[in-house]
Amino acid sequence: MLTKRPRGTNDFLPADTAKWQYVEDMLRRICREFGYEEIRTPIFEDTALFLRGVGDTTDIVQKEMYTFEDAGGRSITLRPENTASAVRAYVENKLFAGVQPVKLFYMGPMFRYERPQAGRFRQFHQFGIECFGAASPAADAEIIALAWEFYNRLGLKGLEVNLNSVGCPHCRPLYRQALQDFLRPHLGELCPTCQERFEKNPLRILDCKNPDCQQHLVGAPITLEHLCDDCSEHFTAVKRYLDEAGIPYRINDRLVRGLDYYTNTAFEILLSDIGAQSAVCGGGRYNSLVEQVGGKPTPGVGFALGMERVFNALAAQGIELPVQSGTDVFVAALGEAEMPLVFRLVTELRRRNIAAAYDMLGRSLKAQFKYADKFSAAYTLIVGGDELARGNVLMRDMATSEQQEVPLDEVVALLAERLG
Ligand code: ATP
Ligand code: MG
Repeated sequence: MLTKRPRGTNDFLPADTAKWQYVEDMLRRICREFGYEEIRTPIFEDTALFLRGVGDTTDIVQKEMYTFEDAGGRSITLRPENTASAVRAYVENKLFAGVQPVKLFYMGPMFRYERPQAGRFRQFHQFGIECFGAASPAADAEIIALAWEFYNRLGLKGLEVNLNSVGCPHCRPLYRQALQDFLRPHLGELCPTCQERFEKNPLRILDCKNPDCQQHLVGAPITLEHLCDDCSEHFTAVKRYLDEAGIPYRINDRLVRGLDYYTNTAFEILLSDIGAQSAVCGGGRYNSLVEQVGGKPTPGVGFALGMERVFNALAAQGIELPVQSGTDVFVAALGEAEMPLVFRLVTELRRRNIAAAYDMLGRSLKAQFKYADKFSAAYTLIVGGDELARGNVLMRDMATSEQQEVPLDEVVALLAERLG
């Protein structure tokens, strides 16, 4: 019996991977334009990294990690996200000693033990960026601008940037206190998760999906009214930069990041019409994270976006990507005897960077033409017969159906010139 792929994972077949490559290439190009360079970190890390770098009160650490002991008795975890690893790499490789800011991007598989559903998998893929060493609000606006550019370049509609500020270690304790004071009289009526969050992570109560909790949050104090002067100034400047770039946003005072290392900007990008999993991108500033992972205090800001959700959104909006497939030249053999010559031609074409295909199942000429349709080649060569006896091959331009005889030893150069 066939062993099936694990629950919550996907096989991406060639029709899919062509689209993935198109989108990945677009992301690489945008990153180059914005000055972000690629970093590749291990797929697994010491579990301790995520305990500190993601935070032990998060859903990720509490219930979603793929953690196991390796043969050497170490606790290893498949990365559930890439920010902690990027921070570790920044510190471990002393990137802080070079020119700042350090602007990095990554893309690849992440692993979370979640309940699989539409847009939610156990192995999924993120693209993300991190900017280390810049406290400027320009960095916050720039990462939002990069995500915005990407979704727009794909042609997606109905995008909404949600923006908030969660303050800093100076002003957040006061806010936290105000929120707890507001909620304390109703503590017993909050959901069990929020009751647990009340002491450890009260800001997370703000984005609880439970309707009862939402009910008790009506009129709750908001972070923006508790920001210190510095945080308030920073927030105003981020908005100013976004305005300047013509990027619309909505202030969402329920948007929070519960952990202490998050500071100032929190943002999410939502897509209005893809159903339940509408958050396609989330990020913000984390000025205390590098220190938390063991480096020197270093400002940082970044986001991660879910690749599968990009493809869901493209499908939902009926957007076809202009992916290239097929080949340039199909070389057909009149019979078995011409096969070595076909093979030589195909090889010479490929050496000239021309994509070339041929039949290797011994099909009849008619069946070869039918097979060739699949490749939508620009030219077909037919090798054999009287033409070959004259030292020529027949070259057919598939767009115009024009045929001509071309000397065997000139046809590769001619095709290279035409397809140049
Ligand atoms: P959600 O609220 O949907 O669980 P999250 O807060 O866990 O999202 P982040 O950790 O900020 O998400 O990850 C950033 C992005 O990665 C999300 O906006 C989403 O697009 C994508 N993502 C997160 N978890 C999954 C998953 N299990 N499957 C597919 N995509 C995911
Ligand atoms: Mg999640």
